[in-house]
Amino acid sequence: MISRLAPAESDPLWALTTAFAHDQREEKIDLVVGVYRDAEGKTPVMQAVQDAEARLAASAASKSYRCLSGNLEFIDGISRFLLGPDSPVLDRQCTIQTVGGTGALRLLADFIPHISPGATAWISDPGYVNHHPIMSAAGLKLGAYRWQEQEHDHSLDLAAAMEDLAEAQAGDVLLLHGCCHNPSGIDPTLEHWQAFSDLCREKKLIPLVDIAYQGFGDGIEEDAAGLRLMAREHELMLVVASCSKNMGLYCERTGAAMIIAPDAKPLENIRFTLERIARANYSMPPDHGSSVAAMLFQDPEPWLAELEACRRRVADIRRDLADELLKLGAAEKFQSLRYQKGMFSLLPITPAQMDRLRQDFGIYGTTSCRINIAGLASHQTPAVAKALFAVS
Ligand code: PMP
Repeated sequence: MISRLAPAESDPLWALTTAFAHDQREEKIDLVVGVYRDAEGKTPVMQAVQDAEARLAASAASKSYRCLSGNLEFIDGISRFLLGPDSPVLDRQCTIQTVGGTGALRLLADFIPHISPGATAWISDPGYVNHHPIMSAAGLKLGAYRWQEQEHDHSLDLAAAMEDLAEAQAGDVLLLHGCCHNPSGIDPTLEHWQAFSDLCREKKLIPLVDIAYQGFGDGIEEDAAGLRLMAREHELMLVVASCSKNMGLYCERTGAAMIIAPDAKPLENIRFTLERIARANYSMPPDHGSSVAAMLFQDPEPWLAELEACRRRVADIRRDLADELLKLGAAEKFQSLRYQKGMFSLLPITPAQMDRLRQDFGIYGTTSCRINIAGLASHQTPAVAKALFAVS
């Protein structure tokens, strides 16, 4: 029977990570996996997280089962973080804790057929590598819309996205990245958000905003501005959130799924439905990360100061890399790195040139030419700029 199993390929990201581990060159640089690194190239546990963990360990609270929805203080904290502490939308939303942002994506993908059978989920192209597999594993149909820059000013080519979305039908889902688009780094302006919001209203599409990098772009409030605009304007909206990056809780699998409704009436029914989906899958989410996150939300200043330092580092590397490329006389298209937001950018080079970066210079990005900007230690920036210039 096992011989019937079709051959499966290993995850390409992990294959590259393994190749990197086996590379003997000292000057090798890993820009593959999306984790934040500090100026020395380390991914430390945030001090605010360490302090919360010490308090948790000292209190030695019971490890008996928690609520099906997860940690209620966490749920309250993350809802306010996403929507703003005084948002009137807080009264018409239901949030449950999930197994990371990934778990939230799958939970909501499983929820969608309950409210919109036969829906197509429209995802950006290029987009987050896991959007397609998750949505199709949940049985949704997939549509793609272009997510690219306008050459003249490096801003989002809204017309291209809109042209593709003209095909979307009432009841379909429009999946947008809340900020720091993965993999392109191209973020919509508030005017663009307004255009997507208007489109959803006109075509009766359900917005789904996936926000995995709040605090890594322009700041925690600025990064949530598009999501909040949509939340104010829509009676039905889905939100996926992750604490993996902005709290550095990657392996603790801490995230949330939110559903915004027209009013408070259907909220209990929504919660029961989400809990049933979760119960048939993993029962309830892990507690440790959400207990830590709940403490960070209660006393946010130390955590937010650390997050702001991460955000500035990413912005500084973008600027330094763009400056170096300018100095070398590299093509103008490389200046996109300066304007894009967050941890990722797609390099304006071909996959063959990406191979050369790896083979000749020991610089590893994904085969789709994505690099993790935050993976660069500050002293490595000139070397990466020179290598990019050399292969392009
Ligand atoms: N959505 C996007 C856009 C992502 O880039 C990621 C990866 N960080 C996720 C969701 C999944 O997040 P998590 O690691 O919390 O599962």
